[in-house]
Amino acid sequence: MTLIHTEPEQRAVARTYELDRRHVFHSWSAQAELDPMVVTRAEGSYIWDGEGNRLLDFSSQLVNTNIGHQHPYVVEAIAHQARTLATVAPQHANDQRSEAARLICERTPGDLNRVFFTNGGADANEHAVRMARLTTGRPKVLTRYRSYHGGTQTAINLTGDPRRWPNDNADSGVVHFFGPYLYRSHFAAQSEAEECGRALAHLEQVIELEGPQTVAAVLLEAIPGTAGIMLPPPGYLAGVRELCDRYGILLIVDEVMTGFGRTGAWFVCGDEGVVPDLLTFAKGVNSGYVPLGGVAIGDRIADHFAHRPYPGGLTYSGHPLACAAAVAAITVMERDGIIGNARRVGTEVIGPELARLAERHPGVGEVRGRGVFWAVELVSDRRTRQPVAPTGGSSPVMAEAVRTAKQLGLLPFANSNRIHLVPPCTLTEAEAREGLAVLDQVLHRVDALVD
Ligand code: PLP
Repeated sequence: MTLIHTEPEQRAVARTYELDRRHVFHSWSAQAELDPMVVTRAEGSYIWDGEGNRLLDFSSQLVNTNIGHQHPYVVEAIAHQARTLATVAPQHANDQRSEAARLICERTPGDLNRVFFTNGGADANEHAVRMARLTTGRPKVLTRYRSYHGGTQTAINLTGDPRRWPNDNADSGVVHFFGPYLYRSHFAAQSEAEECGRALAHLEQVIELEGPQTVAAVLLEAIPGTAGIMLPPPGYLAGVRELCDRYGILLIVDEVMTGFGRTGAWFVCGDEGVVPDLLTFAKGVNSGYVPLGGVAIGDRIADHFAHRPYPGGLTYSGHPLACAAAVAAITVMERDGIIGNARRVGTEVIGPELARLAERHPGVGEVRGRGVFWAVELVSDRRTRQPVAPTGGSSPVMAEAVRTAKQLGLLPFANSNRIHLVPPCTLTEAEAREGLAVLDQVLHRVDALVD
């Protein structure tokens, strides 16, 4: 649907674009090659571009807007807080910060009873690792290949995908291991159970060869997100917990992308009965309306710092606008059954329809996911599973898939050879069907290109 714009509106959009190209330095990009879409407004599951085209937002703006765009209850809470107390330093207590911390602790599993607030996911992982190293006195952290933990220095070292390469420094103390990924098994496994057992045996070997007494923590995404939405086989997370316990190593679970409803549960850990020592979050905690992240901290680590200062802090730790947005977002998620909706739409509509599309389209290698967290892996040959783009890279097929989707009114999240379908948790069944109908057409185009 294209809306007619007035001339002043068109001039404003042109100015936004021109100033962006002249003055804004964008993330992860060759600056001169960019052509950013101007976004003028958003509501629920939709955003509007500078030409007035409405797009169904199956990206949730970097897997962020779990409650959808411009939720009036949350927008009003931010406005109310701005009028009441717009900022306060972290050493003071504040009602919104206290309340947000309570709501988060009540929804995380086990004894994660305290929250250190950060500005986003990367600094949450930085602080979780710092806490683990200080508590154990050990230097190393083990993380997965095919993972993303953020763009700041320690977080990018922790990351296992190619975004690490240009930023890597040799003395980071991070050692990478292979996690389970049955479709492209590193362990020649034929079943989920085999993949799980062999992945755990591999991790144990890495721990033993690195020297358990040198390893502070294993850090992993509950479900790797940007690296491919590979659901861990049943028992994997519990197996990692058990290994950590056996070797006196802390477990940090990164739920920055998976937390707060994305998979149809508050947290994957809680869903799977696994209690990490530290859990990191961001994004869905307040749907990104104001930047916020944090570390939920288990009692053992909190106790370590009871009479010993924690050497770390941030000016905006627990910023009242961000925390007011979190209180409102969590309240609305609970009140309106938003997490149940994500689970239902995933189970009843997205999963079955993606399975049908996979049968019909030879360009689809595998579909996988849960809730509103799905990946469609595109291949040029189903038998060899040859991806249509390299890991961390792009290709004409992927560029055409994204271009076609946008032209037909769907904004997906694309990475390497995958289209990720990560809409808001508030997605209706009709919106899900609308997006999947567009995906069907995109996949026809992909089939024609890889044939
Ligand atoms: N961890 C995971 C799993 C993520 O997906 C991301 C961002 O996408 C981050 C950490 C980094 O979060 P931020 O960009 O807020 O620093």
